[in-house]
This record gives sequence, structure tokens and C-alpha cells, in this order.
Amino acid sequence: MKPDLFEAPDYYHLDDLLSEEHKLVRNAARAWVKREVSPIIEEYAQRAEFPMQIINGLAEIGAFGPYIPVEYGGAGLDQISYGLIMQEIERGDSGVRSTASVQSSLVMYPIWKYGTEAQRKKYLPKLASGEWMGCFGLTEPDHGSNPGGMVTNFKDMGAHYVLNGAKMWISNAPFAQVAVVWAKDETGKIHGLLVERGMEGFSTPETHNKWSLRASATGELIFDNVKIPKENLLPNKSGLGAPLGCLDSARYGIAWGAIGAAMDCYDTALRYSKERMQFGKPIGQFQLQQKKLAEMITEITKAQLLTWRLGVLRNENKATSAQISMAKRNNVDMAINIAREARQILGGMGITGEYSIMRHSMNLESVITYEGTHDIHLLITGLDITGLNAFK
Ligand SMILES: Cc1cc2nc3c(=O)[nH]c(=O)nc-3n(C[C@H](O)[C@H](O)[C@H](O)COP(=O)(O)OP(=O)(O)OC[C@H]3O[C@@H](n4cnc5c(N)ncnc54)[C@H](O)[C@@H]3O)c2cc1C
Repeated sequence: MKPDLFEAPDYYHLDDLLSEEHKLVRNAARAWVKREVSPIIEEYAQRAEFPMQIINGLAEIGAFGPYIPVEYGGAGLDQISYGLIMQEIERGDSGVRSTASVQSSLVMYPIWKYGTEAQRKKYLPKLASGEWMGCFGLTEPDHGSNPGGMVTNFKDMGAHYVLNGAKMWISNAPFAQVAVVWAKDETGKIHGLLVERGMEGFSTPETHNKWSLRASATGELIFDNVKIPKENLLPNKSGLGAPLGCLDSARYGIAWGAIGAAMDCYDTALRYSKERMQFGKPIGQFQLQQKKLAEMITEITKAQLLTWRLGVLRNENKATSAQISMAKRNNVDMAINIAREARQILGGMGITGEYSIMRHSMNLESVITYEGTHDIHLLITGLDITGLNAFK
């Protein structure tokens, strides 16, 4: 793979809207990605393997629990710093960002928000340091966009619970030490349970043959009469709103992350367009290539402003789930279109692993589907503005 020469586009001087802390956090993450992710990620993606050796580094840049309080091992940062870290990591690779998003928003967040003090103390410091990795089991083989239909269930046996069912498409499943699993009780109410590797009847087979997010490990969670201690139930929130609350936090991170992937594709295509000569001129001098590049920077700039504003609203506890859906949907769509156009600017070279664009393009096919598909987020906006529910 070519050396990482990335220069971040900032057409509307977004940096002027950031605090010194935001810039410090962002710059540290950016430098770490250049040093530790860019040189190795293409090889790991080709091999379809998550680079386990970067876990300590992810913890050090604050990617595990950026906004979790320091007393539990988190970085205690605000929502914009959290977003900027996700942007920088996904600039390197969406699969690496997915690993960090799951750990922070889908594992640490529910333990912090819905767990007991004993659960927080037991799990959060280990997850923040990367000593333990976690995963989040919501999707099932027959329930993706409609998670409320889940059939995974647990029964109260007096001294403990017994969990049965299966989850699929679970990021980090093959190596996670703890899974936050969403299952129905005997009345049909959804609760979160903490299931640890090694519990009898619990297995995590890996999913192979993915053409997307190849540097992220994906697997199933199988529960065959797994005995769960009663203290492993997350007691402070139940119902579908509990997992959806975690998804809000993760989708917000994805909105920032997608900007990172788009920035990398744009920057690569811009540099290439100035160096590649055809018909005696750099291809960047042709109007058709300028149109592509001009539209890319316009869309990136719009997404940067939308997402920064969403971060301010989240810092003020004012952001709605529908506003988060709009940003996730818009930014991932923006990034996937930019990846496609950037790939064309590189001609044949664009399909090779010498450049990051094709990997981003394939990764974004997962990002546009997980955490609510492109269609589902549109319906969430539709419901929010009309008050009419298209899901029923
Ligand atoms: C790489 C990867 C990692 C993932 N990681 C996780 C994870 O860590 N944890 C987890 O729980 N899940 C995870 N997922 C699952 C992901 O969230 C689901 O794939 C997603 O929610 C969509 O579900 P589905 O694939 O079953 O598609 P389906 O729900 O079957 O949807 C298929 C198509 O139908 C459309 N559709 C569905 N309902 C409607 C409707 N009402 N109106 C209009 N169109 C509709 C969808 O938009 C989509 O285009 C991951 C998925 C991938 C690919």
C-alpha cells in the first residue's frame, strides 16, 4: 500500500469551531492512525483478520469509552471529541471504527447507563483498557430491521436465568470476553443480559466470506440453555428502548466516522488527479474530474457542519433519535457515493489495494446497512415529520 499522505480537508474552517481539547484529541487519533493503522490495514483486510495488536493503541487514544466518566476508566470527553475520534479511526478503516464503536456505545454505554454500580466497577475499567473486548447481540437470523420480533429468551429458574436463542452478524463476537445480549423474559419484555465467554452452552462461531468490513471480526452468538447468574441482568432499563438508546450513541459515532472515510477517498483522489497525466495534462485539469472533486468537497463540508451541530445538541442533551438518524443516513450515503466517484478518478489503480478507496467502498456497504438500514432511517425521518408510522 502507498504511504499515508493524508491531509484533512477543512473547506469551511471547521477547526475554528473546535476547542483546543477537541483538536488535541483529534490530532492524537490522526497521528496514531497514520502510524499504526495505515501501514498494516490493507494486509489485514485482504486476510480478513482483525489486527489484535492495535487494541492497546485504541485504548490509549481514548477510543474505548471516550465519554464514559474517568472514574470508570473512560476518557471523560464530550460528544464532539468522541465524534472526532470515530472520524479519524474510520479514515483508516471502517472495520477498526466498528470495533471501537461496539466497545464504547454498544457495550460500555449500556453497562454505564442501565447497569448496577457493581457491574460498572467490574466491567468498565477492563473494557476501557482493552483488557476485555465486548460485543452486542441484538440482530437475529429472522429479525434484523425489526428487532422487537426477537425470539431469544430467558426463563427465571429461581437461583439463575436460562438463556436460549441465537444472534447473527455480531461484530467482535469471535474474540469478545463479554456480550451484551438482548432477550425476552417470560412476559415478552426485552432485557439486557451480560453473557461471558466460557459460560456453558455459549458459543461464538465466526462468519466468513465477507467482502466488506474484512478487518473486523463478525460472528454468531449461540445460546443453548446457558445459565446466567441473576446479577448479570442490566436492571435499570428494559423494553426495546434500551437497545435503541445504545444505537443512538453508536449511530452518532457512525455519522462522524463516515466523514473520515469520505475525507480519505477525496484526499486520495485529489492528489492522484494532480499527478496522473493523460493527453499531456494532469487529469485534474479536465472539467469532468473537477466536477467530481468539487461535488465531493461540497458534500463533505455539508456533512461536517451537520455533524458538528449534532454534536453540540448531544452535548446539551437535546439531540433527538430522529436527528441522529438523519445524520447517519446522510453521511454514509455521502461517503459511499464519494468512494465510488473517487475510485473512478483513479481509473484502474482505483480497484487495487495500493490505495484505500476500494476498501472504503466495500466497507461502507456494511455501514449503510448496519445500525439501521438506509431505508429504515428514512422512515424514521418520515415518521418524525409526518407523525404517521410507516412501520405498522
Ligand atoms: C458487518 C456487519 C456487522 C454487524 N454488526 C452487528 C452487531 O454488532 N450487533 C447486531 O446486533 N447487529 C449487527 N449487524 C446487523 C445489522 O444491524 C443488520 O444487518 C441490519 O439491522 C439489517 O438487518 P437485516 O440484515 O436482517 O436486513 P433486513 O431487515 O432483512 O432488511 C432487508 C432489506 O429490507 C428493507 N426493509 C426492512 N424493513 C423495511 C420496512 N419496514 N420498509 C422498507 N424497507 C424495509 C431494509 O431496508 C433492507 O434493504 C451487523 C451487520 C453487518 C453486515
